[in-house]
Amino acid sequence: MRFIPSCKEVSELLSQAQDRPLTLKEKLALYVHLPLCEGCRNFSRQLGFIRSAVKRYIERDDTPRS
Ligand SMILES: [Zn+2]
Repeated sequence: MRFIPSCKEVSELLSQAQDRPLTLKEKLALYVHLPLCEGCRNFSRQLGFIRSAVKRYIERDDTPRS
């Protein structure tokens, strides 16, 4: 298994993260790729991925998603 996932894999994971919780392995893939890749960072920002992920860690926010 490659350690750094491709942009295609990352964008797919980001899309899937909207619909289901990611596994630890999948999150790890994002966290190694995103700091290295501005394109995927921009994409994840558009999806609000980082904000919601960080928010979950910081606030433990249980607000249900509509
Ligand atoms: Zn990328």
